[in-house]
Amino acid sequence: MRQGHGRPAIYGNHPTGMNGPRKVHIKSFGCQMNVYDSHRMADTLAPEGFAETAAPEDADLVILNTCHIREKAAEKVYSELGRIRVLKQAAAREGRRVVIAVAGCVAQAEGEEIIRRAPAVDLVVGPQSYHRLPALLARVARGEAVVDTEFPVEDKFDVLAPPSRAATRARGVSAFVTVQEGCDKFCTFCVVPYTRGAEVSRPVAQVVAEVARLADAGVREVTLIGQNVNAYHGDGPDGRPWTLGRLLERIAEVPGIARLRYTTSHPCDMEASLIAAHRELPSLMPYLHLPVQSGSDRVLAAMNRRHTRADYLDTIARMQAARPDIAFSSDFIVGFPGEREQDFDTTLALVDEIGYASAFSFKYSPRPGTPAAEMAEQVPDALKSERLYRLQAAIDRNQAAFNARCLGHSFDVLFEKPGRHPGQLVGRSPYLQPVQVMAAPSMIGEIATVTITEISANSLFGTLLAPRARAQTAMLAEIGG
Ligand code: SAM
Ligand code: SF4
Repeated sequence: MRQGHGRPAIYGNHPTGMNGPRKVHIKSFGCQMNVYDSHRMADTLAPEGFAETAAPEDADLVILNTCHIREKAAEKVYSELGRIRVLKQAAAREGRRVVIAVAGCVAQAEGEEIIRRAPAVDLVVGPQSYHRLPALLARVARGEAVVDTEFPVEDKFDVLAPPSRAATRARGVSAFVTVQEGCDKFCTFCVVPYTRGAEVSRPVAQVVAEVARLADAGVREVTLIGQNVNAYHGDGPDGRPWTLGRLLERIAEVPGIARLRYTTSHPCDMEASLIAAHRELPSLMPYLHLPVQSGSDRVLAAMNRRHTRADYLDTIARMQAARPDIAFSSDFIVGFPGEREQDFDTTLALVDEIGYASAFSFKYSPRPGTPAAEMAEQVPDALKSERLYRLQAAIDRNQAAFNARCLGHSFDVLFEKPGRHPGQLVGRSPYLQPVQVMAAPSMIGEIATVTITEISANSLFGTLLAPRARAQTAMLAEIGG
């Protein structure tokens, strides 16, 4: 086994006596932050001799990077662990040891309970400890069952290995970069402040260096991510905290980066410099995920969202004034404790008033330890399901109307990979819609102007106009509005 940077080999001798590279299979559940974290875990394990595999049955190490946001997401982990345990037993019969690790927010929230419930698990590691993976796995190799859910004093971003050029290229032309983690907002339904901890922002120089490395490996689009990304306040090179607006302005200068996005934003943190960035930066895409959760002031107050429906509409109006072609998406929770029919009706009305291009909607899921789980007037599940159905119908109708408005218009598409049919590529519009176009494979990574000629439920189809040397969105205002 190859050893990284003179550190001890994680397992000592390979149990099969083979010296080939080890394989790690990482499965991500939940949000983009977990996808990013999974990549960083793979990058940290690469110098230790681990190559990534998409097949869990080939892996020596299986990591489940878990999500705790809703009960369903957390329960999925245990059914997945049942399947992996069978693979582990089969490998043991062949004399091969498979190590199972649970990472992410379920690991943070449930800690040792995971090993009690699923004894095949060897390692439980919280989101703030990924940089310690090699050392933790070395302890596992010595026969310990290891649980690390601390919030360590050292900054994991200072220690986590950067991706190799090859790994970055393999991950495509669009990349996520975590700039902020944790949350201090304490919405009454949400586990994030408990599982991810207090809000922390990465310094500007560290983020810019990571973006420059990505650009150098061929990445064209960067999405800055954080649980509450627009609360970003990382230290700038001037020693002062910078806003997300200023950070975007700086990143827009990185050569090769043609498109910028950020997610997820809280409506209360859409401050002036961020709105100005939308006005001034052509590479900042005119599409904003701005979760509102509910259209009812009564429910918003019970959720501790700290804004009203009118505040939200005012923010939307200011964004539209800054960037007339902007479109919006949102998250909604239905069946929050105490939500009445008239509250729900105001949510439905808000969907139509904004005309969202897309949105996610969820049934309220009581999370242990959060205030809302203890509230009176919990809504019966059947009623939640019925409201979810009606909300999704309203969202679908608005999304279809938005897509229909794109027909006949031209806009820039970043080509990402081969499309569904031979000769086709699929790319993303400024509004994140997948667009299928007949184009040469050499155009992957390029931005070209496409005229939309056809739409289906989930995709747009278009024809190529002229290739563009640089990113520039050219949507007509009526599409966004
Ligand atoms: N920070 C973002 C914000 O404030 O909008 C949201 C981050 S959260 C990871 C993603 C979404 O999960 C939330 O916007 C919310 O709609 C949903 N969510 C969070 N807790 C939930 C719960 N207990 N039940 C149902 N949905 C939940
Ligand atoms: Fe959770 Fe977002 Fe509220 Fe923070 S702002 S508590 S992450 S829903």
